[in-house]
Order: sequence, then structure tokens, then C-alpha cells
Amino acid sequence: MVIKPKVRGFICTNAHPVGCAKSVENQIAYVESQSLEQTGPKNVLVIGCSTGYGLASRITSAFGYGANTLGICFEKAPNERKTGTAGFYNTAAFHEQAQAKGLYAKSINGDAFSDEIKQQTIDLIKQDLGQIDLVIYSLASPRRTDPETGEVYKSTLKPVGSAYTTKTYDTDKDMVHEVNLEPANEDEIAQTVKVMGGEDWERWMSQLGAAGVLSENCKTTAYTYIGKELTWPIYGQATIGKAKEDLDRAAKAIMSELSSLAVQANVSSLKALVTQASSAIPVMPLYISLIYKVMKQEGTHQGCIEQIVGLFDQRLYAASPPTDDMNRYRMDGIETNEATQAKIKVLWDKVSQDNFHELSDYAGYHSDFLNLFGFAFEGVDYEVDVDPIVHWS
Ligand code: NAD
Repeated sequence: MVIKPKVRGFICTNAHPVGCAKSVENQIAYVESQSLEQTGPKNVLVIGCSTGYGLASRITSAFGYGANTLGICFEKAPNERKTGTAGFYNTAAFHEQAQAKGLYAKSINGDAFSDEIKQQTIDLIKQDLGQIDLVIYSLASPRRTDPETGEVYKSTLKPVGSAYTTKTYDTDKDMVHEVNLEPANEDEIAQTVKVMGGEDWERWMSQLGAAGVLSENCKTTAYTYIGKELTWPIYGQATIGKAKEDLDRAAKAIMSELSSLAVQANVSSLKALVTQASSAIPVMPLYISLIYKVMKQEGTHQGCIEQIVGLFDQRLYAASPPTDDMNRYRMDGIETNEATQAKIKVLWDKVSQDNFHELSDYAGYHSDFLNLFGFAFEGVDYEVDVDPIVHWS
């Protein structure tokens, strides 16, 4: 089949297998071009391994440090009529590249929030790896089924406290317009914390610890976005921010529960980037197109893979890594520093439908968005008939 992007709202409903493989190859090439220290992870579990920051973490572990990787994701396989999801193709491409290098790579495709998938993971670690020394928690999901009660919780992307009117960019219609976002009620806040807070990270670590599959001094990190004034009303101080605050609580709880193993748990704050998760958040596409413009001019622009290589090299495996007052690793300073934010603020105040393409890095945002689904890569012929069926082994 000839596969062209089918964009619907903030998502693309199909993906290109050859383009996704290209995306994985490009990230591997970047990691291999960096001379990373030998000290690094050996056996890595990546929860949320198939796209965005989780995929970059898996690629860095394997191709930067030669680590064995076990990945957990929730992706759709292709069939004769419909392509697989990008994460499915990315995972297939990752396996192929890792195996070609003689690196162990297995993935479990299923609901990471469930106890069944946690048990399958533990069984596979016991069978193949023995123990894990790094656990990356990189899930982004709109819902979670509580494994104890079976209740389904949904996350909401709303301000907290009062309504908020702001500009936003509609990627599909290519339109900058105002949105009025009503505040979340208490139940919506609590449900968002249930889905995107630290409870599931803690549950993973607790079950892995109890099963004896974590090594002494094992490290674990969960990803957050903190941002600054422009994004606080819809992110940092909004429902999702409340959930992310809960990660700080969870990090402490994990270290306390697993103190006999001296497990090191830190939240890592990363910069805003185009991913499937961030495209769904009101305001973020506009904010990201503007920071792309500013940060590319400053020469500080980074994608997922550059951020994660920095996180591993300068924080996770550095001799005495700096942390903030909440014991978090901060990789977002290049975005959140006052000078950069001041430049974005100037653009933010000016931006409208008429000048959006000129003031923002619209082209960069758009091509990164298409890249998420394997489209718009140089060197890939999108007119050619490709087989959508791809398998993992
Ligand atoms: P993403 O959408 O690219 O990745 C989400 C991953 O979670 C995928 O691998 C997906 O398969 C997996 N997943 C989702 N639901 C699952 C389930 N039920 N079971 C198993 N796997 C499941 O998102 P991302 O932007 O890379 O986000 C990863 C983390 O990084 C999130 O915690 C996010 O808040 C954080 N973060 C993102 C940004 C950003 O700008 N994108 C910035 C800072 C921090």
C-alpha cells in the first residue's frame, strides 16, 4: 500500500513503517556519534518504550551503553487494511537494529497499568536477565484501569482554580485562535492524578523489588514537564501538573520502600517537544512552535534523543549530578531560563493568525509532527508501495 498521512485533529491515524524505521536509525546514528562514558546501565526496563522520550531512552541505553533492554508499550499491530501505530513500527525497527548489533531486545505489548503485564515482565526478567539496574518510567496515557478495583480513571487537561482564556494553535486547521478553558472539578483533578501521578510507578517498583529482580543501587526515573509562566496555567499548575507533583511524592516513597537495595529514584524534568502526548495538550503546539523558533536561533534546540543522551551522561550516570530542591534532575534549563522565556513571551504576545507562520517555526513543528508517524523524512520515497505488515521477534 502507498501510505500518506491521515491527520485528524491533533493525531495522525496511520503511520509509515519505512519512515518509522528511518526515525529510529537517525536516533541511533546520533547516539553513536556521541562518545559516551563506559559507565552506564546494563539491564534496562523502559515502561513506555515505543515513542517519544521512552524510545529515546531505550535507544540511548542500547546504542550508547550496549545495554540489554526490555520495553513495555501499548501499540496496535498492522493488518492488510490498516497500518500499525508508529510505536509498533518503531519497536520493530529497534528490535531489528539491536539484534543486528547482538544486543538483547524484547518488548511486551500490553497495558502497563495492569498487574498481568507487571507479572509477565517479572517472569521475563527472571528468565532472561536476572536483574534490572535501570527502570525508566515514560508512560503518557489518557486513562488507567485500577488493577485493584477495575475502575477506569480518565485524565483531563484543564486549569485548576479558575477558567483560563488563551491563544492556541489548531494543527489540523492551521489556525491560531482563542480558547476558553473551564477549570477542573475536584474529581477531574483526582482522576488525572490517578492516571498520570506516581501511583503506578510506585506499584511497578514495589512489585519488581518484591520479586527480587532489581539489583542493588538500581536507578529509576520518571519524566515530568515543569515549564514556566506561559504554560503553568495549562500544565504546571493545571490538572496534569497536579499529577506530575505526585511523582515527587512517589520518588521518595520508592526510595524509602526499597532502601535495603539503595534504589535511587529521581524525577527528571525535560523540555517541551512535539510528541503524540504533547500534541494533545491545548496551548502546547503554539508554545512549542514559538520555542522552536527561539531555541533554533539561540542554537539550543534539542529533540528527544539529545535531551535523553544529556540526561544519561550528565545526570543519571554522572559522578555527582546536580539536582533541584526536590531532588529532580533538570534538563529543561535551556528552555526555562529567563532570557529564553523573555524572547518567547515577546512572540507570544504578538502572535496571531496573520503572523503565525512568520513568527513561529511552523515548518519545524509540522515536520516534527509528521516525523512522529514516520512521514516527511528525507531519503524515504513515500510514493512507493510498501508492505504495512511488520513483525517483532
Ligand atoms: P509518547 O506519547 O510519545 O509516549 C508514551 C508511551 O507510553 C508510548 O510508548 C506508549 O506506547 C506508552 N503507553 C501509553 N499507555 C500505555 C499503557 N497503558 N501501557 C503500556 N504503554 C503505554 O509521550 P512522551 O511525550 O514521550 O511522554 C513520555 C513522558 O515524558 C510522559 O510522562 C510525559 O509527561 C513526559 N514529558 C513529555 C514532554 C513533552 O514535551 N513531550 C516534556 C517533558 C516530559
